Amino acid sequence: MTRTYLVEQVDDAAVVQYYADGFEALPLGQKVLIWHLSRAALAGRDIYYDQRYRYSLEMREVIEEILVHGDAVAPDLLAKIRRYAKLFWINSGPHNNLTARKFVLMCRPAELLEAARAAANAGARFPLRAGEPLDALLARLHGPFFDSSFDPLVTSKTPGQGRDILSASANNLYESVTMSDLEGFEERYGLNSRLVKRDGRLEEEVYRSSGRYGAQIREVVRHLRAALPHATAPMRRALEALITFYESGEEADRVAYDEAWVDDKDSPVDTINGFIENYLDARGVKGAWEGIVCYVNHAKSEGLRRLAEAAPWFEARMPWDPKYRRADVTGVTSPAIDDVVETGEAVPVTAMGINSPNDQRIREVRGSKSVSLANINEAYDKSQPPSFRREFSWTEEEVARAEKWGALASEVVTAIHEVLGHGSGKVAPHLDGQPQLALKEQYSALEETRADLVALYFIPEPKSAEVVLSLGGDGTMLRAVHLLDGAAVPVIGVNVGLLGYLAEVEPPDLVHALERYFAGAYSVESRMMLRAEIGDTHHLALNEASLEKREAGHTVRLRVFIDGEMFTTYQADGLIASTPTGSTAYSLSARGPVVSPRHRAVLLTPVSPHMLFDRSLVLDPAERVEIEVIGHRPVVVAVDGQRVGTLQEGDRISCGAAAPEALFVRFGPHHFHQVLKRKFGLADR
Ligand SMILES: [Zn+2]
Repeated sequence: MTRTYLVEQVDDAAVVQYYADGFEALPLGQKVLIWHLSRAALAGRDIYYDQRYRYSLEMREVIEEILVHGDAVAPDLLAKIRRYAKLFWINSGPHNNLTARKFVLMCRPAELLEAARAAANAGARFPLRAGEPLDALLARLHGPFFDSSFDPLVTSKTPGQGRDILSASANNLYESVTMSDLEGFEERYGLNSRLVKRDGRLEEEVYRSSGRYGAQIREVVRHLRAALPHATAPMRRALEALITFYESGEEADRVAYDEAWVDDKDSPVDTINGFIENYLDARGVKGAWEGIVCYVNHAKSEGLRRLAEAAPWFEARMPWDPKYRRADVTGVTSPAIDDVVETGEAVPVTAMGINSPNDQRIREVRGSKSVSLANINEAYDKSQPPSFRREFSWTEEEVARAEKWGALASEVVTAIHEVLGHGSGKVAPHLDGQPQLALKEQYSALEETRADLVALYFIPEPKSAEVVLSLGGDGTMLRAVHLLDGAAVPVIGVNVGLLGYLAEVEPPDLVHALERYFAGAYSVESRMMLRAEIGDTHHLALNEASLEKREAGHTVRLRVFIDGEMFTTYQADGLIASTPTGSTAYSLSARGPVVSPRHRAVLLTPVSPHMLFDRSLVLDPAERVEIEVIGHRPVVVAVDGQRVGTLQEGDRISCGAAAPEALFVRFGPHHFHQVLKRKFGLADR
């Protein structure tokens, strides 16, 4: 299917269409809900225009009135104004969204006046103040339209020595305020107010229905109220809390809303509506308004849900000081969503993923919500021209690979960034859960970089795989399980070679098996693994951990403790601690019992014992086995056949059931005893 993604290019901006494919299939109630929420998202757009630049709304009205009455304007001139209008719409004002720099109207001021006059004669109505003539309006807006050195940067975090970040920023979050004015000032409405200095005093103009942007906020609230009857109960609670916050503007109500929003993790439709991110503010405090409406993409959500479930596994392996790992990573949810509408600061470069709220305290206590915008990802990737890939590739082969896998790779990076990156880690206690206060204007850049580094660190990680395909025999299956190192990724075993106990699929059936896998027609069989600890290292064994003599002709002495109590000392060639899965491997050749792999047990079997007691022990998985080397002869330790170390006199190894399990994909009943029967040629009679 080919459809248009890249709609238009305006200078260096690409206008890309995205598709909400699942929308048609949604139940009517959800569609109606999305409709009202979209209206609420659109109703707040002008808040952001005004926050970004105080002149933007008037400027927009001027150019839109000219365009609407464009028949009256000379075509060449109209084309220049139209190009400017497109950039203005794309960037929500005259500052470039990425560079923060102002762009100007590329015609002469006299030409703009000429176009405006022609439009006025054709019925255009301009935002004139009382008694103001048209040329006075345009003279007033001369700097904003034409002078690139007038308000050159919308946000300037590094204005240079001795310059103030607030006065160097053209945005409208502050009026006549500098950083030095803020010393000792107690800000009550940090996120949702404009700070104004009047007669030498600081004043907070609160964004609420009775305050600044009241008209737009009341309109947003009206649409949110209309959405309420169609929302799920948890979403309704969140929307009601949002309305309360819009009405009061109080911080406590903002917290209540964020909490209600985070708590609503399962609703099929979601919205972000409010003063969310603080990138626009050079101080990193004031929130810029944005609106997003989206719905759950069920197919893609399943993979992300599994990733979120695995968060503790990743957290335990984060590449930083263990004291900054979180003991319990909870609440990271991750539905894949399709986007319906984005407004305000969410545009024009829409995020591929969202992790909210930005309140670190709520994150640590209640977790956060993470979403990956599936259809935005798709649109970004599909709209890339081949020349772009070629520019950044060495060979044609690389171009082809990027075309084939680029979208998937970026989807995985985004998923890890959002699901694991932002929610990971622990803030040092003295920062009181608010690193942004310490890092100030560097906070968001550092936090985004951190989340991305987590993604890049883990992307080659087998754990991020959905399924592992093992082509070989039982040995290959063992290696696949070891590679996963306890990660809960299921393994499909394809049996190439001899009949194996573990592999499920014969090579001719592979394609069919994969089709069944992707259709969800399979089950997962979990197998107990053994955790063997030597000193402060540990190993996971699917089959067994074995201790054996190193020198031929000598037995070793191994003292066994069970749950801390001495059991006996074995004089033998070795000792095998095995799982039920391993009962048909090495343990079998040492005359250990054959145990159904569905059992959970630890089998302890001596190898060629030189003593009267030569039986296997079958222990409960909760019973802890410790083995100590007695005597001067060294003992070799192997895990699933791989040598992992040598023990000397007095060294100990401890074995017990591991918490992670090995997961095998099954496409039907898998009877290990039938394999046993065939292996041993057991008679049917
Ligand atoms: Zn991020």
